[in-house]
Amino acid sequence: MQPEKNKDWLTLSASTHRVFCWVCKLFSNSTMSSLSTTGFYDWKHATERLHDHENSFLHREAVCNIIQRMVTSSRIDACIVEKQACETTRAVRENYEKIKEVLLEMSLNGNETTSTRHEASCLHKKMNKFETGLCVVMWDTILQRIDSVNKNLQSPSLDLSAVPD
Ligand SMILES: [Zn+2]
Repeated sequence: MQPEKNKDWLTLSASTHRVFCWVCKLFSNSTMSSLSTTGFYDWKHATERLHDHENSFLHREAVCNIIQRMVTSSRIDACIVEKQACETTRAVRENYEKIKEVLLEMSLNGNETTSTRHEASCLHKKMNKFETGLCVVMWDTILQRIDSVNKNLQSPSLDLSAVPD
């Protein structure tokens, strides 16, 4: 017997007591499946029908649509997303020690909730690792370089004939 796959594409409507495939509801134009239209409630045949839906062409196409939208480079806001990532890594790199101090303070602060203190402690430990610091420096360097090239490519005065072979 194979282990049951995680059906994180399913969502329950508390008001209708039906389940929906939120992936198909949002990213498919098909009206063929109750999972993406009116909701599914045939509980007697749920196992078989949900399995069939998960392996259907339409569901897989909707999953592909969602993945395609997650690829930043194909989005209209690609430049903004890239710029934000660039600024975020720069801010983390420049304030690395200060961020660690604040996380340590938060992890010891009795006024914070247990989960906040735990999360702060975990982040502090992670930031103390050499690999994390190295990754921040590397990503910052790479993203700053990409940003610089983007700015040059978008410059109205760019002379394409001046690009070396
Ligand atoms: Zn689906």
